[in-house]
Amino acid sequence: MSEQYKYILDESKLPKAWYNINADMPVAPAPVLHPQTKEPVTPDFLSVLFPMSLIMQEISTERYIEIPEPVREVYKLWRPTPFFRAHRLEKALDTPAHIYYKYEGVSPVGSHKPNTAVAQAFYNKEAGTHALTTETGAGQWGSALAMACNFFGMDLEVYMVKVSYNQKPYRRMVIESYGAEVYASPTDRTNYGRSVLAQDPDSPGSLGIAISEAVEVAATSGGTKKYSLGSVLNHVLLHQTVIGEEVLLQLEMAGEYPDMVIACTGGGSNFGGFAFPFLRKNFTEGKQTKIIAAEPAASPSLTRGKYAFDYGDTAQMAPIVKMHTLGHTFVPPTIHAGGLRYHGMSPQVSALVEHGFVEARSVNQLATFEAALTFARTEGIIPAPEPTHAIRVAIDEALKCKETGEAKVIVFNLCGHGHFDMAAYDAYLKGQLVDYEYPAEEIEEAMSHLPEVAF
Ligand SMILES: *Cc1c(COP(=O)(O)O)cnc(C)c1O
Repeated sequence: MSEQYKYILDESKLPKAWYNINADMPVAPAPVLHPQTKEPVTPDFLSVLFPMSLIMQEISTERYIEIPEPVREVYKLWRPTPFFRAHRLEKALDTPAHIYYKYEGVSPVGSHKPNTAVAQAFYNKEAGTHALTTETGAGQWGSALAMACNFFGMDLEVYMVKVSYNQKPYRRMVIESYGAEVYASPTDRTNYGRSVLAQDPDSPGSLGIAISEAVEVAATSGGTKKYSLGSVLNHVLLHQTVIGEEVLLQLEMAGEYPDMVIACTGGGSNFGGFAFPFLRKNFTEGKQTKIIAAEPAASPSLTRGKYAFDYGDTAQMAPIVKMHTLGHTFVPPTIHAGGLRYHGMSPQVSALVEHGFVEARSVNQLATFEAALTFARTEGIIPAPEPTHAIRVAIDEALKCKETGEAKVIVFNLCGHGHFDMAAYDAYLKGQLVDYEYPAEEIEEAMSHLPEVAF
């Protein structure tokens, strides 16, 4: 009998709607607060940064939101994405578990990020916006939004964390190839950037600083530029649910339903997009799939952070939201999974973890690269450093099955390939990679700067 390795959906099966978990959230949402007044924000305040259509998606409680046809047309360049049974990994682990993975690395920029970039570019264009600003860490988000803005004929300014700008030039070149402008943040283009440089001319930058710069440019543009965020917000996770909706159909083709669903979490977008459709089944159909969020031990917002109100950025210009946070002044160590280095977390994912509907686990850097090489040498794909956290957890669970003899169905999200991250593999193979201890003192210090709010 020949075994099936991949499950491919026809283009006609590309989902027509995103799933909005607000409709089924078992806990009421916390208010989003104005960074200065610390009172609940009005759509007016947010409309300086975002088009009204996205603000309405942020608070919508409709269970399904139609994917606009122009967005589906662009999705069709790479979607539906393939879903694999990891037969060779199973054999190498000698596990009775059935391991499956969804592969988002087939998008033109190599990650899941275009799923929301294309949608955000579309809604901004529809609202009459001609230019966007954004930040990027290692460059995955910047390249996704650059591609999307190019498709919809919009200008884009990208504030790229300086240390990545210097160390990872290829994604900067990708961004420029799509026609966008990239600046090494902190820059001298913004008041906030200049204030950071005045204190520390050699500042390596951080995601929090870059967000502040991109927000400042949009907020002071007199309405000509809007700001776009690649993770954390409800509408971003919403757009990513196209991933999980496809996986449900692909698992049906395979005749299986998962015991466990695993994805990595930086701001929570690939996790939410992958896992929320399974949470819907848990909430509304009595399914009992275990849902696991995998994060780095060096930036452990879900497992070691505090569930509290905090600013989304370093300069305290972004709204205050209730989330798991390490403190907005905390700068995580420069681990190679750059996409997971954010002080906060999606409020939706945070609430689900806080109330026990999602389990969070942290993983050390060396253990993730060990898992990544096992995966690459069995399945062939070299994963981005971020999803190696999910792979580590999936392998650990499959090894537990080997002990117990259980044939559990384990499904994880391979949210990107690692072709632009080969320096990280090089460092690992040369024995130069290290684990970072949980920076308890620094996080405690950062916690003393959380805003005091009345909610
Ligand atoms: C950006 C990125 C992440 C982290 O962001 P999430 O919003 O948590 O998904 C993870 N993996 C890849 C490949 C990324 O590009």
